Amino acid sequence: MTKIEKRKAAFIDRDGTLIEEVNFLSRLEDLRLFSFAAEAVRRLKESSFLIVVVTNQSGVGRGIFEESAMHAIHAQLKTDLELDAFYFCPHLPTDGCRCRKPNTGMIEQAAQKFSIDLENSWMIGDKAIDVETGFNAEIKTALVLTGYGRNAARELTRKPDVTAENLLEAVWKITEN
Ligand SMILES: [Zn+2]
Repeated sequence: MTKIEKRKAAFIDRDGTLIEEVNFLSRLEDLRLFSFAAEAVRRLKESSFLIVVVTNQSGVGRGIFEESAMHAIHAQLKTDLELDAFYFCPHLPTDGCRCRKPNTGMIEQAAQKFSIDLENSWMIGDKAIDVETGFNAEIKTALVLTGYGRNAARELTRKPDVTAENLLEAVWKITEN
């Protein structure tokens, strides 16, 4: 029997972390990649991280935009960046699903599919719920101060492993360990 090699992953939030925060982003013309995103993703790949985007998209469940509009945005992001997978939660906060962050459903699904080494994996995001997702999944956590990050830094009662100005700085800190 061959032993399956487990890979570490960087679970990255989308809005406010990889791209500029736009309320209920649904149009390609409103998509603004952060200038440092490509370099940050490239450095993570060089350090053998699998790159998994995990995003709450309740705009789908609320009927604000079509799921196809979101897929078009993800297709564009996949063209621009070396991303391995996307997981999204289309549900409303009141739906009580397992996938909406800070629940860990998206991380668990990805961990199973890609045989992820969670012990060496990170959750990176700009909201308190992103960091809490990492706490709940018992993986390492990085808060970025773009998007809603400054509010999150005040809200969080437990400190993330890393706090950084933006995704690239977070990646420097993560990969130097
Ligand atoms: Zn969900």
